[in-house]
Amino acid sequence: MDADQLRQYLEFYQDLGIKTVYRRESAPAPEEAASPTPVLAAVDPTPDPKTESLLQIVQDIGDCTRCRLHEGRNKIVFGVGNEHAPLVFVGEGPGADEDLQGIPFVGRAGQLLTQMIEGTAKKEGMNIRREDIYICNVVKCRPPENRTPEPDEMEICGQFLYRQLVTLAPKAICVLGGTAAKAITGHKEGVTKMRGKWFKWREIPVMVTYHPSYLLRAYNQDAKREAWEDLKKVLHFVYD
Ligand code: URA
Repeated sequence: MDADQLRQYLEFYQDLGIKTVYRRESAPAPEEAASPTPVLAAVDPTPDPKTESLLQIVQDIGDCTRCRLHEGRNKIVFGVGNEHAPLVFVGEGPGADEDLQGIPFVGRAGQLLTQMIEGTAKKEGMNIRREDIYICNVVKCRPPENRTPEPDEMEICGQFLYRQLVTLAPKAICVLGGTAAKAITGHKEGVTKMRGKWFKWREIPVMVTYHPSYLLRAYNQDAKREAWEDLKKVLHFVYD
């Protein structure tokens, strides 16, 4: 991470006021599928994640060269949103727009994600904006030609996602797409089998749904409807 990016993050977190923190204790725990060992569980981070800040993690990432993904990147894409959010979305890895701006989900898929979150919330009578939640990815640098991140890249970067999620401590995580779902839950089934179900990552309920890039393909009307159902489920669990 270069000095400019670090300054931006510092300013971002300094500017961040504490926003509405929703009730966390009332809703019953959702029924979840049994979880095998996820990639992220293999990591034992040295700093105490319970007491560290996101800024410390950003500083530790630094101008990262730990895996080959650094070779083609413009900006590291750490995460964006309310660090006190009760809901965190996790995607696969940055695309071209994200790599240029250093912010996750700002391209076409990101715009659809924003519409999905805000549209579903509005329809369900909830006033939730994109900036009220937190969004990040499994890998923080763009894979060349938007290829799927390799297992070693996800494992190396996974230590930072692990620390990020422990620090954020959301009430629920919504995982976008099969790659992120495998990394976080450890399940190997395809996303069509996993979507709409609850899993767990270190006691945090995890909902799996389709990646918005998949939903952008015109023939996926059914998948779109299912993704909306999944979002409804997760929003009610987190915010009711
Ligand atoms: N796809 C992702 O998985 N993450 C992004 O940030 C953008 C597109």
